[in-house]
Amino acid sequence: MKIFGQAALKIEPCPLCGKSGRPVGGITVRHLLLEAYREEATSEAYFMCMNEDCDVVYYETDGATSFTKQEIEVPIWFKRDANPRYACYCSHVTVEDVMDAVIHQGARTVSEVNRLTGAMKNANCKLNNPLGVCCHGVIQDVIDQGFARLKTGAE
Ligand SMILES: [Zn+2]
Repeated sequence: MKIFGQAALKIEPCPLCGKSGRPVGGITVRHLLLEAYREEATSEAYFMCMNEDCDVVYYETDGATSFTKQEIEVPIWFKRDANPRYACYCSHVTVEDVMDAVIHQGARTVSEVNRLTGAMKNANCKLNNPLGVCCHGVIQDVIDQGFARLKTGAE
């Protein structure tokens, strides 16, 4: 199968927690799995479980094979106890780095954050980002959270 775009796939629920995941291509899954598990990842289409409390990171469309966070080389930023929490996996910029740029350095946009933190330099998101997509959306989410914090004065 060549297409693994969101529109082409029916979203299957996570075999462990039952929540619906997001589509991820096999090339990304194989790149991020620990070497011992790579041979098991033969499919071209996977889903990522987006539930922060669930141990499953990737699962196959038929639910037969799944990989937990202990079987992945990098911590998954939104999963509980992830450390470090990378917002940008290509440049190893953490959620905390982005938050600091917003709260203490006055960054207001993704491009300002990128300039201050070095995020999204030499981007190879297809392989490095666990979702196989650009980290732009994650950085924007952290900026939004930072704005919310600035507004409430809670830091
Ligand atoms: Zn799950």
